[in-house]
Amino acid sequence: MRAPLRAVSCAVLLCLSLFAAPRSSVAGVDPSLADAAARIAMRATGQSALQTAAELASDAYHGRRSGTPGGDAAAAYVRDQFVAAGLTNVREEPFLFQFFGVDDLVLSAPSAGITANRANVAFGSGRTPRGRYLLVFAGAGGPLAMGQASIAAAGQPWVALVRRGDYQFADVALWAQEKGASGVVIYNRPAAAGEAFGPDDPFTGYVVGTLATQPHPSTALSIGVVMVPRNVGLAALVAMGMQEMGGDGAYNVGVGTNRAYVDMSVQAVYEARVGYNVVGEVPGTSLAGRIVLVGAHYDHLGEGRFAPHSAAVPAGDDVIFNGADDNASGVSAVVEAARALVGTAPKRTIWFVAFGAEEEGLVGSNALLTRYPGLAAALDAVIVMDMVGAPGKASPYAPSYLNVEDVPSGGSRIARLVTDVVGPLASAGAVAFGQGAPFAGARVIPFEGRSDHEPFARANVQATLLCAATDEYPYYHTVQDSVDKLDVRMLETAARLATAAAYVAAEQPEQGALPRKKGDLNGDGAVSLADVTLCLQMVVGLRTPTLDDVSVGDVAPLGGDGRLTVQDVQALLRSAIGL
Ligand SMILES: [Zn+2]
Repeated sequence: MRAPLRAVSCAVLLCLSLFAAPRSSVAGVDPSLADAAARIAMRATGQSALQTAAELASDAYHGRRSGTPGGDAAAAYVRDQFVAAGLTNVREEPFLFQFFGVDDLVLSAPSAGITANRANVAFGSGRTPRGRYLLVFAGAGGPLAMGQASIAAAGQPWVALVRRGDYQFADVALWAQEKGASGVVIYNRPAAAGEAFGPDDPFTGYVVGTLATQPHPSTALSIGVVMVPRNVGLAALVAMGMQEMGGDGAYNVGVGTNRAYVDMSVQAVYEARVGYNVVGEVPGTSLAGRIVLVGAHYDHLGEGRFAPHSAAVPAGDDVIFNGADDNASGVSAVVEAARALVGTAPKRTIWFVAFGAEEEGLVGSNALLTRYPGLAAALDAVIVMDMVGAPGKASPYAPSYLNVEDVPSGGSRIARLVTDVVGPLASAGAVAFGQGAPFAGARVIPFEGRSDHEPFARANVQATLLCAATDEYPYYHTVQDSVDKLDVRMLETAARLATAAAYVAAEQPEQGALPRKKGDLNGDGAVSLADVTLCLQMVVGLRTPTLDDVSVGDVAPLGGDGRLTVQDVQALLRSAIGL
């Protein structure tokens, strides 16, 4: 998953529960279809999923970053799994994306308290040639101070030491470059109350997710930039015979009473690279031109002390981000779904997709939509899984909900379908929840995005995300997200839910999966006051209707007029209260 998890506020959940239609007895799933789906879903097993996840999360794939050999190897492994499962038309589809990485980083000045290259973060396309540089304190790194630092360097090759806190990193770097610095070392400011920079002591912690996730978009920046913890910066100042004095951007500037030198090398890469989506199919029959998609991203953060997008910088020997829950878990469930659904001859074609470069900003899922301009219109349902293998909390694990995301405008039928198959699956013994199981049930939550369902949802496709992770999962984007954190029962639950939901969606009898009846905006099978509320919200602009919402809610004047108006609200109200 991309970017840190946000808490779903209690207020939002409360509102949702107040406005959600009561659990309808008119469940959307036909009982015999649900039974068939449960039987098929039983073919997906947690043990098998765990094997797949363990392989992908092994060190052999070096963190599966797209655009690296490890990422390519992971794509090839998934392709082989798809072929072995019996999918047809299995292919790896390339796409280009902007890759940012750090190939080399040396920062060493034992006399200045800077030791080796311990877990610093660099950014941009900058390069500092390997060499020894005079360290010059440039205060807060403003243009004036940078000019003074340049004069203090007196013609020697120099690197600017800068206290973080007053200017944009990119501005500081460009000013340093203008004044002839060969590189910039930025050390952290003190943490504010309640603020933490990383997993370490706030005093020593790193700035995470700032430099590394914002490579400088301009080719104008060519020098290397490195971030160090505050104590490293202060120790360097001590070695120079200086201290941090001043404030509000006005610090003392210069080389100090003792000249200190730093050995530095930065080779940051910001370039176009190739990533791959892996796609395979179970061909449809009577509605083969309609598509149901089951997907999950296989890529992760890669390896190294400088892996971008990571929430924590590894401090020990382990520098591989194994990404077991994020998202070997989801891919393993997709592979299980493929194995289970091969040979079922569903009405609709089912696509199985392992997305690449999700961690780079949902690149693979966007690339799929770009590659197939007609795809969004052909898709009747998209089920994406991301972080489905670990119960939400650290040991002792507490049961975790599988959160099932609504579409942006609300009224998701695919999310409801997923929650609707839980009951039949439980009756058939395919899933278990409560009573010692890690699975607490499935619940619809508001749209959040940030995984590969997002581009589809924004293209007005019925797309949802299954995710079991919560804010309490402490290993998110750390090197500790390893296979031992996965729960085989949780993997099985996700795989079976996705399998059953995909099958039910693919077996819907008519054109357009999961059809809503006229007026049934929330897709619960009935026209109720909840639909009236939804329609009113859309009419007054509190909610943006999808094209589908408009066609479902447009009931007045008789036959519809192609838009949602107060007339539609009135007509729905009459229908809801039985007039
Ligand atoms: Zn992630």
